[in-house]
Amino acid sequence: MSEPFVTRMTAARIPTKYGDFQLTFYTNNIDNKEHLAFCRGDLANAEEVLVRVHSECFTGDVMGSLRCDCGEQLDRSLALVAKEGLGIVVYLRQEGRGIGLLQKLRAYNLQDEGYDTVDANLMLGHGADERDYSLAARILDDLSVKSVRLMTNNPAKITALKAEGVKVVARVPLEIAVNSESAGYLLTKAKRMDHLFLTKPLTPVFSSKAHEPQSAN
Ligand SMILES: [Zn+2]
Repeated sequence: MSEPFVTRMTAARIPTKYGDFQLTFYTNNIDNKEHLAFCRGDLANAEEVLVRVHSECFTGDVMGSLRCDCGEQLDRSLALVAKEGLGIVVYLRQEGRGIGLLQKLRAYNLQDEGYDTVDANLMLGHGADERDYSLAARILDDLSVKSVRLMTNNPAKITALKAEGVKVVARVPLEIAVNSESAGYLLTKAKRMDHLFLTKPLTPVFSSKAHEPQSAN
C-alpha cells in the first residue's frame, strides 16, 4: 500500500457558539472520505497544541444519541480549544470505530440483546476497533504543529498517533457524565479497551451487571 498523504483543498471560516473556526477540507489517497480539521489560532510551528482527533459518530455528534459520549466529547473539545484560543479538532470520517454506520446500528441491536460493544463488533465479523490514525497524523503535519496535547481517554489513540510520528506531549482527559444509556458502553470501553476514566460515578454505576446499564441514581 502506498504511503498515506492528504491534500488540503480549501478552508472556510465557520462561526460557532464558541466563536470562529477555520474548517479545512482534505482529500487523501487512502479512502474516498472527506476528512476535516476544525482549527483556531495561528498553528504553524506551534508547540503543545490542544488537539482532539475525533472519529465521526453520526448518532452521537449530530443526533445527540445518549448511547455514547461522542457528541459531548466533540462539544467539550470545541469549547476547550475556544477557551485556549489555539487548537484543532481533526474530524475523521470513520463511523462506529471504523465499521461504518450500518454495521454500528446492527451492533446496537446486539447490544440491546445484552452483548457488549466489543462482542457485538466481533460477532459482526469486525475488530473491536478498526480505526486508523495515519491520515490524522498527515493532517497535523500539514497544519505544521510541532507537538500536541491530545484530548482523549483512549491510550491506544496516543500510541497510534505517536507511531505515525505525532509528538504527543500530554493527555487532556475528556470525561463526560455517565447516563443510564451510556453506562454499559463506557464500562466496556474502560474494562476491555483500556479507556481511562477518573470520575467517581463509574464504580457504583457499574458495580452490578455490565450488560444491564443501571441508573446513575
Ligand atoms: Zn458515538
